[in-house]
Amino acid sequence: MTKRWWLAAGLAFTMAGCSSPMDAASVLRDAQQAMGSVNSIQYSGTGMSAFFGQALTAGEEWPRRDMSSYTRAINYEQRSAREEMNFAQPTFGGQQQNTQVNGEKAWNVGPNGPAPQVAAAEERQLHIWLTPHGFLRAAAAAGNATLSGTEGASVISFTALGKYKVDGTIDAQNHVTRVETTIANPVMGDTDVVATYSDYRDFGGVQFPAKILVAQGGFPLWDLTITSVTPNAPLDLPVPAAVASATVPAVQTVNTKLANGVWHITGGSHHSVLVEFNEYLAIVEAPLDEARSQAVLAAARMLVPNKPVRYVLTTHHHFDHSGGLRAYVAEGATVVTHQSNVAYFEKTLAAPATISPDAQSKAAKKPMLQGVSGKDILTDGKQTIEVYATSGDTHTKEYTLIYLPGPRVLVEADAYSPGPADAPVPATPPPNAVALDAEIQRLKLNVATIAPIHGRGAVPIAELKKFIGRK
Ligand SMILES: [Zn+2]
Repeated sequence: MTKRWWLAAGLAFTMAGCSSPMDAASVLRDAQQAMGSVNSIQYSGTGMSAFFGQALTAGEEWPRRDMSSYTRAINYEQRSAREEMNFAQPTFGGQQQNTQVNGEKAWNVGPNGPAPQVAAAEERQLHIWLTPHGFLRAAAAAGNATLSGTEGASVISFTALGKYKVDGTIDAQNHVTRVETTIANPVMGDTDVVATYSDYRDFGGVQFPAKILVAQGGFPLWDLTITSVTPNAPLDLPVPAAVASATVPAVQTVNTKLANGVWHITGGSHHSVLVEFNEYLAIVEAPLDEARSQAVLAAARMLVPNKPVRYVLTTHHHFDHSGGLRAYVAEGATVVTHQSNVAYFEKTLAAPATISPDAQSKAAKKPMLQGVSGKDILTDGKQTIEVYATSGDTHTKEYTLIYLPGPRVLVEADAYSPGPADAPVPATPPPNAVALDAEIQRLKLNVATIAPIHGRGAVPIAELKKFIGRK
C-alpha cells in the first residue's frame, strides 16, 4: 500500500466523494510513471471487430468479423490516429478498412484515395482518449479530473471534447484497466462504451495491455490480442485537401409518385415510402437519423398537408434502417415492425438521449408498437398495406415485406438494391436476392414494381428476375 493511496482514500472518504483535483493529479502521475509516457504509439495483433447495429436479431450481439491483422497508430500530440483492419472474410465495406482521424477531420483510405467521413470525426477522436495512455494524457490535460473509487481501483473522471464524461479505473499496479464513456446513437440514445485492458506487459519499456476488449451498447465491438507495440512510433497524418474542405452533405429528398397516394421519397442513401390513407399517413422505413426523418416528414406534409402520420413501418431493425424511428414516435406514430423487434424497440424508443437530445427525449412519448408475426393489414377500405413477417436471410433473421396490393408495389430493403439500368448481371445470383424472389413466390404476391430502400429507385419486378438470372 502506497502512501499516496491513503492520502487519496482519506480525502475521498472524508469529503464524501467530493475529491480534490490534486489527488486525481497524483494518481495520474503515478500511473504515467508506471506505464511510461509516450507521445505516440503503434500496436498490432489479431482478434475481431464486430459490426455495430447489425445484429442478426434485435437485442443480440453484433456480428463478429475475424481479422487476419489489426494495426493502430496514434499520435497523441497531433490528436491523430490510423486504424487498419484486414478481415479474414469479405465484409461490408470491403475486406480491408483503413480509417483515419486528425482532430476534427476524419477520412477513410480506400483504393480511390481518401474519402471524407465528416460525421465520424468526433467518435474517432474520442477513441484516442479511451486508450490507456490517451486516457492518462487527456485526464491530466483536462485540469479538472476528479478521483473516486475504492482501494486498488481508483476511478479518475473527466469530460472529453466538452461533452463526454470519461471514467477510467486505475488498479493497484497503477495500470489503466477500464475506461468507459457514453456516446450518442440515433437508435439506442445514450450508449455505453466500455474498454477493458488486461494482461499488461512490458513492450520496449512501456506497459501495454495484451488484451483489449471494447464493448459498445452492451456487446463486444473489438476483441484484440496485442502482440506488438512500438512506443513513440512516428506518425504524421496531415489532413488531405479533399477532407479539409468537406462538410456534412445537406439532407435532401426527391419525391416520385408511384401510384395514387403512394410516393417514393428518395434523395439520400436510404429511401422511404409515403402512403396516404383517408384520415392519416403511413411512412415505410425511418432510416439513418432524426435529420432524415424530419426531411421525410417535411416532404410528406408538402405532398399531403394536414394529415397526421399514424404508422411508421420497418423493413428490419438494423440501425441504418431504424435510426429515424424516435422522431416518428415523438410525432405519436405507431411502429409496425416484426414481432421479434418489439421488446427491443420498446426499450430503445424510450431510452434517454442526454448526449444528443432529440425530439423523443423532449416529447417522451410512450412508444406504441404493433408487432407482426405472419401477416398484418393496415386498411381504411380504400388504401391497403399488407405486412408480411419473414424469417429473414443471411444478413438479418427478421425482415418484413411491405406490399401494396392496389398498385402492386413491394417495398424491401437490402435484399435487392437496383443499380444503374445498364449494370451487368452478377455472374452468381446474390443469395439474398434469390431468397427475396422465393419469398415473393411463397407469399403469392403479384408484384409489378419494387420500391427499394436502397438503389436507383423503383423498378419493374422484371429487373429483379434479370438480376438473379430468372425469367
Ligand atoms: Zn440491413
